Amino acid sequence: MRFHFPIVIIDEDFRSENTSGSGIRELAAAMEAEGMSVIGYTSYGDLTSFAQQQSRAAGFILSIDDEEFQTEDSAQEALGNLYGFVAEIRRRNPDIPVYLYGETRTARHIPNDILRELHGFIHMHEDTPEFVARHIIREAKSYLDNLAPPFFRALVDYAYDGSYSWHCPGHSGGVAFLKSPVGQMFHQFFGENMLRADVCNAVDELGQLLDHTGPVAASERNAARIFNADHLFFVTNGTSTSNKIVWHSCVAAGDIVLVDRNCHKSNLHAIIMTGAIPVFLMPTRNHYGIIGPIPKSEFHPDTIKRKILANPFAREMLEKHHNRKPRILTLTQSTYDGILYNVEEIKGLLDGEVDTLHFDEAWLPHACFHDFYRDFHAIGEGRPRCEDSLVFSTQSTHKLLAGISQASQILVQDPQNRQLDTAWFNEAYLMHTSTSPQYSIIASCDVAAAMMEQPGGQSLVEESLVEAMEFRRAMRKVDEEYGRDWWFSVWGPDDLSDDGICDQTDWTLRPDERWHGFAGIEDGFNMLDPIKATVLTPGLDVDGSFEEMGIPAAIVTKYLTEHGVVVEKTGLYSFFIMFTIGITKGRWNTLISLLQQFKDDFDKNQPMWRVMPEFVAKYPQYERVGLQDLCQRIHGLYTKHDVARLTTDIYLSDMEPAMRPADAFAKMAHREIERVPVEQLEGRVTAVLLTPYPPGIPLLIPGERFNKTIVDYLRFAQAFNRELPGFETDVHGLVAVEVQDRKVYCVDCVKQ
Ligand SMILES: *Cc1c(COP(=O)(O)O)cnc(C)c1O
Repeated sequence: MRFHFPIVIIDEDFRSENTSGSGIRELAAAMEAEGMSVIGYTSYGDLTSFAQQQSRAAGFILSIDDEEFQTEDSAQEALGNLYGFVAEIRRRNPDIPVYLYGETRTARHIPNDILRELHGFIHMHEDTPEFVARHIIREAKSYLDNLAPPFFRALVDYAYDGSYSWHCPGHSGGVAFLKSPVGQMFHQFFGENMLRADVCNAVDELGQLLDHTGPVAASERNAARIFNADHLFFVTNGTSTSNKIVWHSCVAAGDIVLVDRNCHKSNLHAIIMTGAIPVFLMPTRNHYGIIGPIPKSEFHPDTIKRKILANPFAREMLEKHHNRKPRILTLTQSTYDGILYNVEEIKGLLDGEVDTLHFDEAWLPHACFHDFYRDFHAIGEGRPRCEDSLVFSTQSTHKLLAGISQASQILVQDPQNRQLDTAWFNEAYLMHTSTSPQYSIIASCDVAAAMMEQPGGQSLVEESLVEAMEFRRAMRKVDEEYGRDWWFSVWGPDDLSDDGICDQTDWTLRPDERWHGFAGIEDGFNMLDPIKATVLTPGLDVDGSFEEMGIPAAIVTKYLTEHGVVVEKTGLYSFFIMFTIGITKGRWNTLISLLQQFKDDFDKNQPMWRVMPEFVAKYPQYERVGLQDLCQRIHGLYTKHDVARLTTDIYLSDMEPAMRPADAFAKMAHREIERVPVEQLEGRVTAVLLTPYPPGIPLLIPGERFNKTIVDYLRFAQAFNRELPGFETDVHGLVAVEVQDRKVYCVDCVKQ
């Protein structure tokens, strides 16, 4: 058999020397003789750690003994356990075969709640073990046969088929690698299957991604059904590409477009590529450096009209072509820190006002599977349609679901009075899709979707939510135990219930609450996704005031990295982790104990060579510095330069568009640019994207003019980097030039 899925037997007597024990062992032996592997357990074990077990099994045989029915109480208990177990299986998996196995007890003794979940009831000694084994195996096989979604199934068949190919890729199913020692290593590491399944689009029976035919199309349809979209397209080059496809399908040169100022850079690339005229909607920020929501007032058609008129290029377009609608609105739905918008309210405001509503849901593919997120994601079951506006959602399957890197998808919801023309749409799709797509990425899009088939999807999302809540509770417990001593906190609402996943309303942002630190919040318009957990380090309060003692997050995350924990993103005094469906209790508990170790090392001011040897190997100047002293030094610098306010203000400062982004970028292609040192940047027009890390959100886009606030920030970054090597503020778009042994930072600006 291609896959290893054993039948799991749970029977108290599995190892006992009695008739019941030997009966069940005979059945096990009969199944093994047919080539089926069998695992026997003597109890149900821990139900909560059950997800893996049920996903590995081909079926279950659960025993009930006559003995258990001798008293009323013991019968109650046995049935209770049985019911608990069966319910736990069915909560995730409605299809896996489950059999009850008993001596003489019949269906009469088993409540309906259990009976209707079963595939059958096996009586010991009634039939031969061989007969029963064959029956169970047939059911198990039929269950397994129906598991694989269309494309993955076809790919597996093809890879096992063993046919010789003359088509690309040139390594011919991995054979090329075998001809050299380093190639052998590659082959051994990735394995035969990965290479056999690496085929090209000349293989007809797999269908074509670029034309959406055959098994690929069947899988896209299957995923569309699971995600409740009208159309769904797999994308094998990440959501970066999905966004560009969406844009190119509906935006052309000179179009006015509405864009979240803190969007992912792929959307800014799309602005440059299409030649659109962007009008930006401005999110708030708090002083932790966390990006907040765009206030609801910004979405108001009147506000938008005003913004368009305030932009010289947009105004010109509007005056030339009377009353032109914005072509698209692109909104980051789930910001890096987990802020979500009420999509229904946005549709209500902008349906018909904007041609296409595009929600960049790179971080939100899980939301449509759980009622916790109702109204706060773009497309899903029962979501009302717009009358006029087309709705797109672009999702990175690889970020929160089980996709491999670059697995992404585009979801579409048609408005009531038109339908996406998929032939037109595909022209844009082809523009951005490689003619040699990676088939294992397509397969992972396919499988990631199939995994979320209800009820499995809901229980997987629920588990992530539960783990995220448990992590927050555990962090609070540690804090309580430390009393007045310092500890890390997790950004989120003050009130957290003692158990369960809470309710959406507990995670809604309210104008009268202080924890979020955002201005201009309207009740019910935003919520925080708890599965993104921003951990705050001491040193900064929500108003942006520095405290006496401070621990910059950069040190904490470097410390964590040296101890085997890599976090997703680091800010000034915060870093964040995600509770994806791959997260486990072990993982977040390890994080908490590492943070405790950090606290201990910090409180003892342990020397850097002892606690962060790898870092010290690179930067020996810190060898004898104490961990606490180093934190204090960086904290002092941040305080002196008022960095929390600075890094907030740069994003809120006035960014004057001097040229269309595409025109400014064209200057670079034509080399009509010059490299301008930071000191002379004020008033100059950038030809490139300027993106500080953290937070990795573009600050200036091609065609915009440097203002004083931004130049001050770059000056600070330059000075800071000279003073504290190893803790550099990285700004993409800055070019370091050596001038007399000194690094001078420059930006490529449009020639004056
Ligand atoms: C990561 C991300 C993208 C790009 O997704 P990839 O799959 O990495 O290409 C787009 N938008 C947002 C908001 C993201 O966070």
